Amino acid sequence: MEDKRGWGWDPSKFFSVKSFFYGLCLENSLATFPVYNLIWKSVTSMKVRVFVWMAWLGKINTTDVLQRRLPHITLLPSRCCLCFSHMESIDHLFLTCSFSCRLWEELSREIGIEWQNPQSLRTWMEQAAAISCDNKRNLLFKAGLLALLWALWGERNQRIFKEIDNTWQEIWESTKRNVGLALHGHKEFVGWSWQQWHGNWSDFC
Ligand SMILES: [Zn+2]
Repeated sequence: MEDKRGWGWDPSKFFSVKSFFYGLCLENSLATFPVYNLIWKSVTSMKVRVFVWMAWLGKINTTDVLQRRLPHITLLPSRCCLCFSHMESIDHLFLTCSFSCRLWEELSREIGIEWQNPQSLRTWMEQAAAISCDNKRNLLFKAGLLALLWALWGERNQRIFKEIDNTWQEIWESTKRNVGLALHGHKEFVGWSWQQWHGNWSDFC
């Protein structure tokens, strides 16, 4: 019998990026990529998923990363534009910044889930992926987490490039609105009114 070359991850035996992606997921990536479900199975838009995936990989262009890439340029101010008191890094911007912490506290309070303060985004997302609770709160938590990361990045960019500041309360309200838009058609939330989406989620879970 004659030997033939064929791509093993597609029944057609032809290579495709899609089959490569699913092949990697099935082979071993689920074990080495513990936040796979958190990112790719959460109810949110693809642009948010891709952004959070890039953040988890450490590929977001925060000031410390840009400064390493452009050592001949002094980036001023090299401070976090949310709190103005620390160097901006992925872990600081999304987690340890006092401004961001306020928003995480709000998510924790409304979902009714407590967590230990993580020191790195990777640790936090792995910890978040392992948190289990009832389905309704789980959906709100995962969608809220991704929406909050996206909102913090948007706020950071808006402050730098448009010189527009929002308060943490305004960001929290817009985050809840985005979560509501993403989840309002889900079967777990049938009958939820906009008052509920804007109210304290813990009252309805
Ligand atoms: Zn900060």
